[in-house]
Amino acid sequence: MTDADSSPISNDQNPTLDPKDWDSFRAQGSEILDVLLAYVENVRDRPVWQPVSEDAKRRLTEPAPQEPAELADVWDDVQEIILPFANGNIHPRFFGWVLGTGTPDGVLAEMIAAAMNSNAGGRDHAAVYVERQVIEWSRQIFGMPEGTSGLLLSGTSMAQVIAMAVARDHMAGVDVRRDGVAAAGRLVAYASDEVHVSVPKAAELLGLGTSALRRIEVDSDFRMDVGALAARIREDRAAGYVPFFVVANAGSVNTGSVDDLEAIADLCAAENLWLHVDGAFGSLAVLHPELADRVRGIGRADSVAFDFHKWLHVQYDAGCVLIRDGRMHRDSFTTNQSYLAMGTGGLAGGAPWFCDYGPELARNFRALKVWFTLRRHGLRRLGEMIYKNCRQAQLLAARIAQEPELHSAAPVALNVVCFQYRPTGGDAPDAPVAPVEARGDTQDAQSQALDELNGAIVTRLHEEGLAAPSTTTLNGRLVIRVALTNHRTADSDLEVLVDEVLRIGRSLSAEG
Ligand SMILES: *Cc1c(COP(=O)(O)O)cnc(C)c1O
Repeated sequence: MTDADSSPISNDQNPTLDPKDWDSFRAQGSEILDVLLAYVENVRDRPVWQPVSEDAKRRLTEPAPQEPAELADVWDDVQEIILPFANGNIHPRFFGWVLGTGTPDGVLAEMIAAAMNSNAGGRDHAAVYVERQVIEWSRQIFGMPEGTSGLLLSGTSMAQVIAMAVARDHMAGVDVRRDGVAAAGRLVAYASDEVHVSVPKAAELLGLGTSALRRIEVDSDFRMDVGALAARIREDRAAGYVPFFVVANAGSVNTGSVDDLEAIADLCAAENLWLHVDGAFGSLAVLHPELADRVRGIGRADSVAFDFHKWLHVQYDAGCVLIRDGRMHRDSFTTNQSYLAMGTGGLAGGAPWFCDYGPELARNFRALKVWFTLRRHGLRRLGEMIYKNCRQAQLLAARIAQEPELHSAAPVALNVVCFQYRPTGGDAPDAPVAPVEARGDTQDAQSQALDELNGAIVTRLHEEGLAAPSTTTLNGRLVIRVALTNHRTADSDLEVLVDEVLRIGRSLSAEG
């Protein structure tokens, strides 16, 4: 097959970037799709992760190409230096951080959106209506009132920025958009010690600074101490600060803990504060009847940030912010530029436009993969997958409780399990992982050695491609962390994980 694509600038009257030979392109495209679907279908047969090869690293630093290449050659490169070195999160034994799995349906959805190549920033076309429907579905999922607005974003990190910006502008009592944040006085916000790093980042980005984000202590279940929150608000008011924003966790990143949303909502109502819920993954527990109670009160929030790409398995990236009062949302972002003037009809109609709900003007058709995934699987089945992961977390916790060398490090609220490996002969078998402060000096060296051992176990699991949990630090101790947002995980995969942690732990302790 000779492919004239390698010289798109030809003597044609109208050179374009389209294939010269559509039939050949179509055949190659179908083959690529076949390979990709097999890649997803057979993921279990591959290692969870392997390091990017030296050859791939070298080739991925080559200078920008000046000349065209054959499709077949580019695809060969993809198969050699890109596809084998994936993140691992589509594998059934990926348990690290909080990463969604995606679906084969999402592969198709991305392809459809790419063919349309719509810009969902505004104007009157299907992408805008699809996004509106996705936001309306989200509003219904969380039981928020009509008039709630929303915006799809890259993830919860950006959703927190939008929510905090709207709250800041509304609560400041001055025109922040015109006069800047300095005019807003001494605004302060509140979040627990378990808050995700994206919230302090949002405070920095919005000109408030991290010192304006008060950290409230958590209880032994890693939930915000609501009494301490109330006290801090009182103190701040007395000192002349202007409290405006409270972040509650519905599924904290470290342990999956859920703050007492009802109590915090009551306090925010009494204190006239904006309640924002970081529900990146945990908020979706609302989709299963046996879990919904754990996040009760979420519909009372002024804003909710959550992800479709974690526990709803939409392909990366897809997050969402919902703002209870859509008018406030628009007030923070709407502009009136002549080149964006909305017409009363034609393509320039269809107001309001999504560019009036956030800083981005160009926006991809992210809503399609969300819509497609929700249509294909339905909320009930997606909720069952969430329930399955929570059940598996309990199963894993039960196995940990049985193993003398494994020690629970936090209660299992939803889908996150934290534990430590310790060689036998140390603490009593059922001793939970004690906070650093609770340990004497002589135990500190031992604690540090244990932390290092657990870090080494996780690294070894990754390097052998067996499983990919991550680590975190709880009460100053490094622990192995398993976050189950993976619809592909079978119960037996968790047995494999525990068996391998024990094997590697024993082997490393014997070496050490
Ligand atoms: C993942 C996560 C975030 C950040 O979300 P992104 O989608 O990665 O931007 C924020 N909060 C919590 C609790 C998370 O788990």
